[in-house]
Formats: sequence, structure tokens, C-alpha cells
Amino acid sequence: MLTSVLKINPDNFTGEELEEACNILRNGGLVAFPTETVYGLGGDALNPAASSKIYEAKGRPSDNPLIVHIADMAGLYDVAHGITDNGQKLAKAFWPGPLTMIFKKKDIVPLSTTGGLSTVAVRMPGHAVARELIRRSGIYIAAPSANISGRPSPTKAEHVIEDLSGRIDMVIDGGSVGIGIESTIVDVSSEETVILRPGYITKDMIKQVTGSVSTDPAVDGKVLTAPKAPGMKYRHYAPKGQLFIIEGTAGMVVCKINSLVYEKEKEGYKTAVIATDETKDKYQCGIVKSLGPARCENSIAASLYNILREMDYLDVQYIYSESFGDDILGGAVMNRLLKAASYNIIRV
Ligand code: AMP
Ligand code: MG
Repeated sequence: MLTSVLKINPDNFTGEELEEACNILRNGGLVAFPTETVYGLGGDALNPAASSKIYEAKGRPSDNPLIVHIADMAGLYDVAHGITDNGQKLAKAFWPGPLTMIFKKKDIVPLSTTGGLSTVAVRMPGHAVARELIRRSGIYIAAPSANISGRPSPTKAEHVIEDLSGRIDMVIDGGSVGIGIESTIVDVSSEETVILRPGYITKDMIKQVTGSVSTDPAVDGKVLTAPKAPGMKYRHYAPKGQLFIIEGTAGMVVCKINSLVYEKEKEGYKTAVIATDETKDKYQCGIVKSLGPARCENSIAASLYNILREMDYLDVQYIYSESFGDDILGGAVMNRLLKAASYNIIRV
């Protein structure tokens, strides 16, 4: 299959430019498109043949459900029922935006889209191209991240092309995305509001709206129960090299990483460090990549996947990363880094 690439300026485009993409989607094909979080791989959410194609193109396990993207509140009432008060309040506060909510699904949503679950994940994206694509195509778009399963999520069209060229019909290139990590997922299908995946919308922001919120204990990988978001159990976001996270006081972390890199380089391995602007000059050997200023949480989130992919371009075999606290986007960056590292933590 030939994958066409459509360049779009998200700040200045007409709906007509998206007509071919809309046609592909209406006919059951696949189009990758930019959202404010990461690039999504879109297909008709109500067409089981289209969702099967999404799973196949990504190599995604079939029990890992897809998020249904809508353009307006009417869309929510089409695909979900029993909308709770908290669901309504959170939609009012954060939609359109980087928040996905789990509701009870209506029958028109096929089980192939929800991985066999009786609930459905719904998001109203804020990105202009994503919104216009949903509105103009007249369908609801199922869209997981547009990467091969297990690899870092795509934050620019080049990442999508790298993973999915020849496997999908079209990529809409709208440049780099703004946020760079996936949406927050919150289960509002019952009275208790539970965070299933941390993201740009933090627990504190949700609590301000709902009064109370808990986090699925499986989110940080410290308990052995199955996570409520099935996708969270899979290895994710991973570069090809072995990634380790070093935790401890700042000075000790730098010291430990320097000695680990020295040892591996001496053994002949290609090695890299993931640091911040403040620490990057403290590393003496290996390739050093900075995620940006330590206090700029948006820059750290936006650079993470790009740098994990760069590690692959550079054929790095061992990667040592500094660790990031719960204050960086409510722990969302650390959550992704821990998964990318398969929870390999070295404490000093
Ligand atoms: P991605 O689209 O690649 O960001 O992944 C979507 C995430 O949403 C996965 O972790 C899924 O397990 C989760 N998800 C989708 N639908 C549901 C649902 N009905 N219940 C719980 N989690 C869901
Ligand atoms: Mg994904």
C-alpha cells in the first residue's frame, strides 16, 4: 500500500484540504493525524473492519481498546450512556482537550473497538486539524497513537512515517505536536472517579472539578493487579537499547551515571545519558541528550519521545536517565519513562 503524505498548516488551512482524508476514513481506510497530545492513527470507530485494520497496522494486541474521538457533545451521547455528573463536569472543564474519559458504551460501538469491554473511552481533541477531520468526515474516529505497538508514541509526522509507511493510507503532516505525551485517562463510568493513566490534565486539576479522585493502584507498576486500562499492562514507549532510570539525590545520580557510562563505554558499548539543561554538562562521556530545563515540565514532556527515538537512530545500546518527580505533569513523564525502562530503576 502506498501511504500518501498531506502537509497541512494547523494555523491556516481550509476544510477542503482534508476532503481526501475524510473520504478515506468514510470508506474504512486509515489516516494518521496530529492531535495536541501525540499523532493518532484514525479509522471509523463504528466500523469493525476499520478497527481491525488499526490493530493490524500497529501490531496492537486485540484486548487493548481504542479511544473514540468526537467533535462535539452530541457525539458523546451517540456513543455512551449513563453519563455521570462527574463525566459531565469534567467534559465542561477540559474538553476540547487532552482528557479521555471512560463511559458505559452504547450498542452502536462495536466490541472490536473497545477490546471486548462494555465501556468506551471518549476524547474531544482540541487540535484544529483533528477537530475538522472528525467534523467534516461525519464519523467518530477511533485513534490510538500512530506508532508500532511498544515503540515511543509519535510526536511528529516523520515518526509516523518511520513506523507505518506502507501500512496505512495517509499521514496528515501538521508539524510537531504541542504536549507530546498521551491524554490523561479517567474512568467516570461509575460514581467513583479513577485515573487510569496520568497525563497533561493532572490529578489536582481533576480534583478541583470533582472534589475527589483516586488513581488506579496499577498505574505506577508497584502492585501486581491488572491495570483497569488494559493497554497499561504492555511494554510501551521503549527504545531499542536498554534503558535504566537512576534515582537519588542530584549529585549522587550524576556520579552514578558517570561511572555506569564509563564502564559500558570501556566494554565497547554505545551509551547515552538523558539529562536536563542544568545537568547535561556534568557528564563526561557517552552521548548526552537534554530534555530541556528541569523546571519546564512542558518542554520535558514534549521532548521525551523524540529523544527516545533519537536513541534508536544513534544505535545506542545502554541508556541512563535521570529520574523525574511527581511534580512534572503530575507524574505523567515518570510514568512513561518507567514503562519505557520496564521499571529498571537503580537507586543511589
Ligand atoms: P492509546 O490510544 O495508544 O493512547 O491507548 C489507549 C489507552 O486507553 C490504552 O491504555 C487503553 O487500555 C485505554 N482504554 C481505552 N478504552 C478503555 C476502556 N474502555 N476502559 C479502560 N481503558 C481503556
Ligand atoms: Mg499508544
